Amino acid sequence: MPELPEVEVVRRGLADHVVGRRIVEVSVTGLRTARRQPGGATEIEDRLRGRTVTGARRRGKYLWLTLDAGDAAGADCLLVHLGMSGQMLVTGAGAPPVRHLHARAILDDDTELRFVDQRTFGGWTVVPLTEARDGTGVLLPAPAAHIAADPFEDGFDLIATARRIRSRDTEVKRLLLDQTVVAGIGNIYADESLWRAGVHGRRRAGALTLRTVTEILGHARDVMADALAAGGTSFDALYVNVNGASGYFDRSLDVYGRAGEPCGRCGTPVVREDFMNRGSHFCPSCQPAPRRSVRRPTGPRAR
Ligand SMILES: [Zn+2]
Repeated sequence: MPELPEVEVVRRGLADHVVGRRIVEVSVTGLRTARRQPGGATEIEDRLRGRTVTGARRRGKYLWLTLDAGDAAGADCLLVHLGMSGQMLVTGAGAPPVRHLHARAILDDDTELRFVDQRTFGGWTVVPLTEARDGTGVLLPAPAAHIAADPFEDGFDLIATARRIRSRDTEVKRLLLDQTVVAGIGNIYADESLWRAGVHGRRRAGALTLRTVTEILGHARDVMADALAAGGTSFDALYVNVNGASGYFDRSLDVYGRAGEPCGRCGTPVVREDFMNRGSHFCPSCQPAPRRSVRRPTGPRAR
């Protein structure tokens, strides 16, 4: 599943190759690709045909292209759901079809933007832009209006985000993964940032200091920036960037996917445990687990 760095790589590719181009013709053939659009494939085609792509935007793992009217509330944008295996490819017009090709847009420079998706969890939707619910004034595709700012945004408020995390009485990793609290941190980067901070993901957020939570968020940003510099991290060999080149690499990961291997800091074997229907990877020595105790009765908590 693509994480923020992969989505950013795709966004940059679209900014380079698709922004400024007019969509001459478009066809959406994948039934599932159009399933989020009330009017189906025909509506997507009608609303994209003849439009000029004016921007490639991202918040967290959400990716969209702005059209003609640009960044204005109510203006159409093309929201791209990459799902598990979605790829946005740019080829020469008339290049031979490939397997799992579900949508294609012919652009005015004789290139073609293709949506290829083997597992078909992804799709395209043309939706209006609307103001983010976080009050930042940022315009987001309507279905993503609830998504919080991500750590790479100019408007990202590190301290306010850390305070919001500390105010919730639940496991810190659950909050790192909550896209309405902070966008763009997926399972891989949550595990990596918790390892860097030496904090077990099942610790209660309210029991951590503001400084520790700030540190975890800073690590999340750093580890994603490192991944981005190296071209994206993904364990899904299906992931390729906008030109079809693989963005696959895993060298910078310290714990994710390394169960049984020695911790790079202390040598203790890394452990994997189930968490939220996924796996959590951690060093039991650097990141001691909270005791599995009966939950305290709820009551006023010390801040
Ligand atoms: Zn360790």
